[in-house]
Amino acid sequence: MAQVAGNLQRIRNGQRRYAITPRIPGGFVQPTMLQKFIDVANTFKATLKITGAQRIMITNLKAEDVDKAWEMLGMAPAYSTSNRVRSVKICPGTTFCKRAKQDSVSLGMKLDKLYISQEMPSKMKFGVSGCPNSCSESITKDIGVIGTAEGWQVYAGGSAGAHPRFADLIAEVATEQEVLALVDRMVTFYKENAHIERMGTFIDRIGLDTFKEAVLGDIEAADASKSAAATATISAAAAADVNATEPSVKLPGMGNNATLGLQMGEPITENSIIREIIEVYPNTIPALQEIGMGCLGCPSATSEPLWQAASIHGFDVNDLVTRLNNLRKGA
Ligand code: SF4
Repeated sequence: MAQVAGNLQRIRNGQRRYAITPRIPGGFVQPTMLQKFIDVANTFKATLKITGAQRIMITNLKAEDVDKAWEMLGMAPAYSTSNRVRSVKICPGTTFCKRAKQDSVSLGMKLDKLYISQEMPSKMKFGVSGCPNSCSESITKDIGVIGTAEGWQVYAGGSAGAHPRFADLIAEVATEQEVLALVDRMVTFYKENAHIERMGTFIDRIGLDTFKEAVLGDIEAADASKSAAATATISAAAAADVNATEPSVKLPGMGNNATLGLQMGEPITENSIIREIIEVYPNTIPALQEIGMGCLGCPSATSEPLWQAASIHGFDVNDLVTRLNNLRKGA
């Protein structure tokens, strides 16, 4: 029998049924995307289940329908094998939540883009929360980030499940850029030194002080009062010498390693980041300003994906993608 690209579910009355879970960055679902889930569920008499990782699982599929369902969806799977970055759970943050202190959507989407599905010594989950209420349960994630009035707290080693463990606070930093640099250090150190073990088990095995010393460089990490110093050192040093990703385009003001997505010649999509669009295709700026984006100089606004900007300004994202791509092609 051909391999089934779905997860085998509980066998009832000898019948095998499968579940598939498409990738939904940040848990943000556009109506057109949601319609595809509905169409698949109706076509194959499947059941939709909201998961704890902000995704929609399609379950109760027959083996012969799994490939057809993927084809109808036209989406990528959430992850392919077990020892990878499985999810980046993101709370609404300053984009939507009145309690937010920091822009968890912007940071979370960047982390998702950088790390999702990356191979790791064990499975890895991220959580990004915009304030200490921690609605993304950052403290129980392998990498957890929590926004505060002063900046961000960065945690490592959390997990839930059969062996729950609260994450350890690694450092408090001021900016998104510093979070990205520190996370890069932690992930790289973990990948290079861990056995087949979760981040928390790795930290317990080598010791928290050793871990902090390794990822914070020359900072005396054991002294909590020096976390402010960690901020300055990380921003200057870590952003310059750590690179665990495959960069393509440099983002203004984010250092040499914090590079994401869109390259010259690539099509603009609903998930393209505004900042990348205007940097790679500056001839799209007037069109973006025409839809009301007078905020193109604002770092917060330009870190949004296109769909979010379209939603805020009341435009159909598909029309906008078509228009921008026509401009990109000089049409
Ligand atoms: S963690 Fe804070 S910012 Fe995020 S949804 Fe919860 S209350 Fe809002």
